[in-house]
Amino acid sequence: MGFSVIIVGSSGRMGKAVIERAQKQDITISAIIDRQERLSKLQTNIPSSSNYKDIFSKNPTSVVIDFTNPKTSLSLAKEANKVGNPIIIGTTGFNSSEFDELKNLAKTSLLFWASNMSVGITALIKLLPQITKNLGQNYDIDILEAHHNKKKDAPSGTAITLAKTISDAKGWNFEESSCYHREGFIGERPDTEIGIQTIRGGDIIGSHKIYFMGPGECIEIKHQALSRETFAQGALQAAKWITQQKPGKIYTMTDVLS
Ligand code: NAD
Repeated sequence: MGFSVIIVGSSGRMGKAVIERAQKQDITISAIIDRQERLSKLQTNIPSSSNYKDIFSKNPTSVVIDFTNPKTSLSLAKEANKVGNPIIIGTTGFNSSEFDELKNLAKTSLLFWASNMSVGITALIKLLPQITKNLGQNYDIDILEAHHNKKKDAPSGTAITLAKTISDAKGWNFEESSCYHREGFIGERPDTEIGIQTIRGGDIIGSHKIYFMGPGECIEIKHQALSRETFAQGALQAAKWITQQKPGKIYTMTDVLS
């Protein structure tokens, strides 16, 4: 049977981008899934439904591509695990117990999750440990992220991934080193801190800036998504790639691109 996908969250910003990209590449879309009230406004020839259980069971080999919200993604991952569909999750904002559930499901499913599916951010994730270690102890690190005014989670999954990557390279405990808010008479900056600050507004697709601030100099590394196409392309690439893998762990974009 050929390669095909089921796109969930199909009338959302990312869902639409994935559909457009898949159609451009002649990838078979078995079905699209969204909430009933959203689907009723949609004009399309692709089979559509709000009943994911029914769609998964009718298309058990199709790869599910999901950009929705943490609660929905978790339900989809559980069903995909039961039926056998590989699943690519792009949703961000999972809490730690939800993410632990995903990790558990990945032991027996083909499951992929990435907070950011762009080539640029994936390359940056590889680069960060090196630059962090090279700069040593005397550089303070903060991350500033900006997104559109409809984004629901903060800080962005990407900012958290970048901060965790730096924290791991430093050998710090991420929960203890991350600082999301500064206000009032806060005193001097602790040595082991990574600030993560958030801007929300307009239709910014996604911007991340990492500051390395040292004695007498400052390095700024910026990534800006200029369209959602880069994420959609990453999701489709991951969907093809995962069909050749074995269950065992949550795969991510660095696995796909390495
Ligand atoms: P959006 O609000 O535009 O779209 C979400 C869609 O999910 C909507 O169409 C909504 O109706 C649908 N949905 C919600 N509950 C549902 C349910 N129970 N069943 C079926 N469909 C349901 O959001 P968006 O901008 O497309 O982003 C979606 C997610 O993807 C967010 O978590 C965002 O942070 C993340 N995201 C990830 C990447 C990445 O590269 N990993 C890139 C961009 C966005």
